[in-house]
Amino acid sequence: MPLTEEQTALEAVRDACLLTRDAQAGIVASNGGILKDDRSPVTIADLAAQAVITAQLLDAFPKIPIMAEEDTAALTGPDGPAIEKAILELTGRFSDITSSRKLRSLLERGGHPGGPQGRFWTLDPIDGTRGFLRGEQYAVALALIEDGQVVLGLVGCPNLPFQPGGRRTSRPGAIFSARRERGAYQWPVGDGDPVPISVNTVPQPEMGSFCESVEPGHTSHAATARVAARLGITAPPYRVDGQTKYGIVARGEASIYLRLPSTPGYHEKIWDHAAGSVLITEAGGRVTHVDGQVLDFSAGRTLPNATGIVVTNGLLHGAVLEAVQQELGVWSQPGEGSGILKP
Ligand code: AMP
Ligand code: MG
Repeated sequence: MPLTEEQTALEAVRDACLLTRDAQAGIVASNGGILKDDRSPVTIADLAAQAVITAQLLDAFPKIPIMAEEDTAALTGPDGPAIEKAILELTGRFSDITSSRKLRSLLERGGHPGGPQGRFWTLDPIDGTRGFLRGEQYAVALALIEDGQVVLGLVGCPNLPFQPGGRRTSRPGAIFSARRERGAYQWPVGDGDPVPISVNTVPQPEMGSFCESVEPGHTSHAATARVAARLGITAPPYRVDGQTKYGIVARGEASIYLRLPSTPGYHEKIWDHAAGSVLITEAGGRVTHVDGQVLDFSAGRTLPNATGIVVTNGLLHGAVLEAVQQELGVWSQPGEGSGILKP
C-alpha cells in the first residue's frame, strides 16, 4: 500500500534528523558554516537534508511542488566543488543521491513561490542553523499547505530530550507531528510509538514560563524581558533554536513563546512557522501576530504581517497579547489591516 502524506513526511523528516545529527559534531569541530548572500549561515547538512527530504517527497507525490529554504547558490562559488563533494558524501550514506546531477536537480525543485491556491510543501531542512553550528538545538521542519491553510506539520528535534525536562542522553530526539483536526503527537526519532501531546493548562501568566530564540537578532530579548516582567513571570526564559520552541509549548513544557521584532520590517519566512503553528493549534494552543491576527500562509514565501509572533497555551493568549501590545504600542482595529508599531 502506498504511504500517506503523513507517513512519507514522517519518514523523510526522520531520515533528515539522523543525517543532520550524524553530521553535526564534525561540522561544529571544523567550523563548517558557509555564509549566504544575506550573511545567514548554511552548512553541507542543510543542503544534504533538503535533498534527501525532497527526493522522498517527489518519489511519493511527484505532483506536489516544494518551497524550500535552500538552493544551489553555495555550489556555484569557488568552494563549490569541495562543498558539493562533502554533501554527496553525506547524502550517499543516507540515500541514493550520489551524483552531482541528481543533487542539483533536487535542490532546484525547492523554488515554489507559494500563494493562495493549491497544495505545496514548505521545508526548512535545518531551522536554527546557528544553533546547529553551536552544537545545540535545531529543527527539521516540514509542512503541507493547502489553499493557504497548513494541513500537516512536522518538527523534528534530533537533540531534544524526549521527556520534557529530561537530560540530553545518548538517545535523545523527538519528532512532533500534527494533522489538521487530528491532534498533535510526539514520536521518538528512533523506533517507537507516538504519544499524544497537548499544551499545559497554566491559567495565570505568572505561574508559567516562556521560550524564545537564542539569537538576539531574531527576537528582541529586551522587549521579551519587559513583557515577562509586566506579566509577573519570574522563571528565566527558555532559550532554544528553531521551531523546537513550538514543540516545547505544544507538549506543555512552557506556556508561552514570544518572538518580538528586533529587525523592524523583517517578514518571517513561512517555513519558519508553518509546521509549528499547526502543531500548536492541534495541541490546543493559539498562535497569532502581536496585533492578534492569525498567520497568513497564502501570500508567498513570507508572512505579510511583520508585527512579531505570540504563541500560548490558549488560556493565556489574551493576557499575553495585551502585555505585548502595551509594551510595543501596537494597535489593531477591525478593518484596519495589519497592526502598526507606533513610532
Ligand atoms: P530561531 O532559531 O528561532 O532564532 O529562528 C531561526 C530563523 O530565524 C531562521 O530560520 C531565519 O529564517 C530567521 N531569521 C533570520 N533573520 C531574522 C530576523 N531578523 N528576525 C526574525 N527571524 C529571523
Ligand atoms: Mg534554515
